[in-house]
Amino acid sequence: MNEKGLTLFENTQVQLDTAASLLDLEPNIHAILREPMRELHVSIPVRMDNGEAKVFKGFRVQHNNARGPCKGGIRFHPDETIDTIRALSAWMTWKCAVVDIPFGGSKGGVICNPKEMSSGELERLSRGYIDAIWEFIGPERDIPAPDVYTNPQVMAWMMDEYSKLRGYSSPGVITGKPLALGGSLGRSGATGRGGVYTIIEAAKHLNLDLSVATVAVQGYGNVGSNAAILIHNIPGSKVVAVSDSKGGIYNKQGLDPHKVLQHKGETGSVINFSEAENIGNDDLLELDVDILCPSALENSITQANASKIRAKIVAELANGPTTPEADEVLSDNGVFVIPDFLCNAGGVTVSYFEWVQNNYNYYWDEDEVHERLNKKMTKAFQDVLSGSLKFKVNMRKAAHIVAVSRVAEAMRLRGWV
Ligand code: NAD
Repeated sequence: MNEKGLTLFENTQVQLDTAASLLDLEPNIHAILREPMRELHVSIPVRMDNGEAKVFKGFRVQHNNARGPCKGGIRFHPDETIDTIRALSAWMTWKCAVVDIPFGGSKGGVICNPKEMSSGELERLSRGYIDAIWEFIGPERDIPAPDVYTNPQVMAWMMDEYSKLRGYSSPGVITGKPLALGGSLGRSGATGRGGVYTIIEAAKHLNLDLSVATVAVQGYGNVGSNAAILIHNIPGSKVVAVSDSKGGIYNKQGLDPHKVLQHKGETGSVINFSEAENIGNDDLLELDVDILCPSALENSITQANASKIRAKIVAELANGPTTPEADEVLSDNGVFVIPDFLCNAGGVTVSYFEWVQNNYNYYWDEDEVHERLNKKMTKAFQDVLSGSLKFKVNMRKAAHIVAVSRVAEAMRLRGWV
């Protein structure tokens, strides 16, 4: 539940309702988009290492496939719920539409704690999940990918299981695979990279000179560290603070993100880095910086701290880092927010490139992937910015308007209403 007592999925419905009313959307299209197209609830029996059978609950939710096969990651998490998976499936529909890739939206999840499972148990669970859902997925139907606590190895097991069931190798059924099994170059850093391309566009729009800009990055995992390294590569830009779950570090002269990454690798955290002072997680969010990149978990910027955010740009690399109430405060205070499903769409965009390469069975070099990603993210940012100026709404509402209107157009053309 958020501060307004809405579940995450209800929150996505409210966001859709706002876009629908601004677009004057036909009631039939609006009604269809308010609910997922299909939900699959499965029970997955797994033989554990001690010989006992354990039955895990899993879900696959397909929100909409008007623009193409559904696309969305699979989460393995002890607190997974159908409501979260529903919400994330809807966001995938909007995310794929906003970057204009020919996919709909879906999401999957299994309630389990991978940290307490052996590799053998995880493999049997991954294969069991595919055995339960395989008839509902496929390269032309629904294409999963890694998400929270799933990784390229899990994708490899799942692709192998699907291929065995089909009777032929089918790399295009899943993305985020290891390179040796048809993964794409540039996939692992794509979300952070795509976010930085949108920051560059936002800075141009706001006349913010990146060669003297200061940046704080909350969360130093895959997304945050890749973004920090790319920002550091922009001449003059300084990453002055980063954090992880244990705390933050700050150096107003700027940090070397490579050295911070090495320090985190050696010690398990960014804190106690010799070239910086330790700060609290909340302090990082409220620093006087030009750009703040929430790259950790959802609900980091809330009603409690939104009015203390001093950054000019908030680049939402994480999913759902800002609560709806905080969003209103940021908007009122003139903070330019690059909304999550635009800012972090680089991952799914390169997943799309992976699927294209699998279908062609011809693979691109890394520069080509980066260049195509840059084009897609820049165009998506400009489309949303135009929507924001045309409808006089903030970037989040504009991103919904762009995405919903694209999905609605496909539904109309298919004659669904
Ligand atoms: P990750 O697990 O690699 O990194 C998460 C980081 O956040 C870790 O460094 C962790 O210590 C830190 N963290 C956790 N709680 C924190 C707190 N309270 N304060 C500061 N730091 C905290 O995950 P990731 O893949 O980098 O994903 C980060 C976010 O980006 C998530 O919201 C994810 O859904 C979103 N995202 C990721 C991708 C992708 O391709 N990996 C794509 C789209 C969106």
